[in-house]
Amino acid sequence: MLLKDQHLLVRVFEQAPIGMALLSLGDSFRVNSSLCDMLGYTEHELLNLGVDSVTHPDDIDTDRELWNKLVQGEIDNYKIEKRYIHKSGDIKWGLLHITVERYQQGISEHDIYIAQVVDITDSKIKEETIREAEKLSMVGELAAGIAHEIRNPLTSLRGFVQMYKNEDIHGKNQLRNDVMLGEIDRINEIVSELLVLSKPENKTYRLGNIIEKLNHVVTLFEGQANLYNIRIKIEFNSDLPLIYCHGSLQQAFINILKNAIEAMPHGGEVLIKIIKIDTGIQISFTDQGYGISQNQLEKIFQPFFTTKETGTGLGLMVSKRIIQNHNGKMRIESKIGNGTTVEIVLPTPLK
Ligand code: ADP
Ligand code: MG
Repeated sequence: MLLKDQHLLVRVFEQAPIGMALLSLGDSFRVNSSLCDMLGYTEHELLNLGVDSVTHPDDIDTDRELWNKLVQGEIDNYKIEKRYIHKSGDIKWGLLHITVERYQQGISEHDIYIAQVVDITDSKIKEETIREAEKLSMVGELAAGIAHEIRNPLTSLRGFVQMYKNEDIHGKNQLRNDVMLGEIDRINEIVSELLVLSKPENKTYRLGNIIEKLNHVVTLFEGQANLYNIRIKIEFNSDLPLIYCHGSLQQAFINILKNAIEAMPHGGEVLIKIIKIDTGIQISFTDQGYGISQNQLEKIFQPFFTTKETGTGLGLMVSKRIIQNHNGKMRIESKIGNGTTVEIVLPTPLK
């Protein structure tokens, strides 16, 4: 090959907008700057780290399996979607295509492998968000439908049990009646949480003052907070815009505040902070509770996921759904032993 061609090829490699690496049997011996940018390492670091160290643990096996087939000459190329780990620890999705340039017929240690990686992280995240929203909406509609059907028979059952209790003047069956009432109330609690999942009609949203709503929710918890030595503080600026709210928004705040209080059995402070941002307002609830592990953080929005003995595991799922119905966003950050912050963004109405 002419020297001129070689220079040209090196330039193509270096300036390619997608990640590229050249590998021999051992590991990469050359990587381009797009790959370095995608994974956050310098060329030197990347070459020293090796492929497995920047691959998500769950994807190493699949990648290795195909790689071995390639090296053994069973296949000439492969294409997979795999997860890489960025230097910061973030997950990056890549569409990896590896081809081989054989040195001679059959396999040889001089074979060169050419890896091309397209960063598909953005589209993967979008896909995931849409899938989750669809799942949530399907589960929500179904659950709300069932809850609706259960509510009426439950009300009459409760009425009759209450009647038994009233007739039992001497308290002979007090325990039995109280257990029945308690259990019906528990079903009711679950049913009412699920009812919130049905999407409210647009006309039931009204412009409202978020501070008033939060203040009201805080008063509901005064007793419980005192009991556990918990202080609830609200901080806000006076220039907050009005927000379109549905009655269910209060339920979302209740669920979040309840979790915060339940996470601090030995007392502490919950700070509710409301600030104005470009797109609307941001409300954050920060507690000093026991926090949530990384592993659990991935599951807390799933229906029925709970770590509490008498939890329903519906609070956060329902809250997220309510916030989404308001075209808002909700996310949670937490550190074990340090506390948790639930952050909600609600948009201001379009002018
Ligand atoms: P429940 O409160 O009935 O368990 P949720 O959906 O409200 O259901 O919460 C799910 C789980 O998320 C809880 O069981 C708990 O493990 C965790 N969690 C939620 N909020 C917090 C918080 N502020 N601090 C610690 N853990 C929390
Ligand atoms: Mg809860």
